[in-house]
Amino acid sequence: MDKSVFLEDMDAFTYREALASGEAVVLIPVGSLEQHGPHLPLGTDSVLSCRFAEGVATRLGALVAQPVAYGYKSQQKSGGGNHLPGTTSLDGTTLIGVARNLVKSFLNQGVRHVVFINGHFENYQFLYEGIDLALEDLGIKSGAEQSVLLLSYWDFVSQDTLTQVYPAGFPGWDIEHGGVLETSLMLHLEPARVAMDRLVDGPAAVLPRFDRLPVVPERTPATGCLSSAAGSSAAKGSLLYGQVIDDLAADIASELLREPAAAAVPLAG
Ligand code: ZN
Ligand code: MN
Repeated sequence: MDKSVFLEDMDAFTYREALASGEAVVLIPVGSLEQHGPHLPLGTDSVLSCRFAEGVATRLGALVAQPVAYGYKSQQKSGGGNHLPGTTSLDGTTLIGVARNLVKSFLNQGVRHVVFINGHFENYQFLYEGIDLALEDLGIKSGAEQSVLLLSYWDFVSQDTLTQVYPAGFPGWDIEHGGVLETSLMLHLEPARVAMDRLVDGPAAVLPRFDRLPVVPERTPATGCLSSAAGSSAAKGSLLYGQVIDDLAADIASELLREPAAAAVPLAG
């Protein structure tokens, strides 16, 4: 087997060699099990966060941990809502606990930096809280050797890429659920898992400026998508993936690696 960046493929002795270098960087993909309309699989957020982590790890010589495959509850204004069957979520306290446990485990083993690669909008603040509590537990303060980064991959899409992917105007990341971004990335990375013949084109969801609990289910479009995926293509996915991997790798290398210039050389092809 080719040398894999995934911990699940690695034996413990090889992993310990990476730890012994004192330079180990472990990326943790975080996704969800969430409805993404009729044309995308429930695991879309997890699949995409894993593929972004894989691409970055390959560039930087980092490792990819087992993904967190469930996320915080889908919100009506960013994921259609937690009431929709298929969407299977964790309470906020559970996700905080998962992040806290993982940070403590990896840093206690001697990992130098942990990087969460988030692919599900609603996860972010709960991951932040889990990381913060773990560092408090461990007594890790500003200026320490060990640290944790947290990011959502879509925050690395450049203005130039946005203009090319959304020629008619960008709808906003919150309603990019089952829309052009995720569909194009899946067409590029996992085409066999996309059913373009089942795609429903319709207007973007119109949602109030407040959250109402319990939700008013009729406010979520019947497709479960908050914006249309019409206009998605593998070419757009390739553009998005390549640009985001370039920027992710460059930012993480310059922030964490001791020799960023040497580590950030793109792979041939
Ligand atoms: Zn998604
Ligand atoms: Mn999501």
